[in-house]
Amino acid sequence: MSKVHTCFDFCLMITAYYIVMIDLHTHSLLSDGVLLPTELVQRANHAGYSAMAITDHVDRSNIDFAVPRLVEVLDELKDHTPVQAIPGAEITHVPPVLIGQLVNRARELGAKIVLVHGETVAEPVIAGTNRAAIESGADVLSHPGLISMEDAVLAREKGVSLEITARKGHSLSNGHVAKVAMAAGASMVVNTDAHSPEDLISRERAAIILRSAGIPEENIETIFANSQKLVDNVGRD
Ligand SMILES: [Zn+2]
Ligand SMILES: [Zn+2]
Repeated sequence: MSKVHTCFDFCLMITAYYIVMIDLHTHSLLSDGVLLPTELVQRANHAGYSAMAITDHVDRSNIDFAVPRLVEVLDELKDHTPVQAIPGAEITHVPPVLIGQLVNRARELGAKIVLVHGETVAEPVIAGTNRAAIESGADVLSHPGLISMEDAVLAREKGVSLEITARKGHSLSNGHVAKVAMAAGASMVVNTDAHSPEDLISRERAAIILRSAGIPEENIETIFANSQKLVDNVGRD
């Protein structure tokens, strides 16, 4: 019997692993999100998340405002929530030549997941932002729009993950991003870019977004595992 129980417990563990959501791109009211970081974490907990990054928009004007506050509040919450909430930043609309120094500054201030707001088709992001983000060694290039094959290959070489996004507007190019990332062998992650509680999604919904981008079934779990790997790396810091 004990053997049966062991197997059963193992199956439960595996099931739990596969139903939880990891979301490495969310915004609080430290930039243009609507929730305090604390409520955002609690909403994510309620939505069944196991881990998340709060990645408020930053440029030079607010990087030293937002990042240390996220570090402080998420450190305080860590023993009081089951969600692993990671302080991050999204370098946003910064001229490409300045992106590298801001990625470094975000890390110095304690950001553990650094995103760069990529060349989405929904906004006039400066051309060359995708390339600068990849060269800067950001963790994730958010919504990279009509990313070139050359940049996707560089992302693979540099270990920068390309984002498939749940966010309206940015998600228009998900199919292109998926196609180019798969052809280049670049890593992908799926995030919500949530600005309000209704933007948080289940892992099941995230899987539908990945399938809708043309990603074959056999690649779906790898993409979730990529997010888990980034979270595990934070744990090792
Ligand atoms: Zn963005
Ligand atoms: Zn964002």
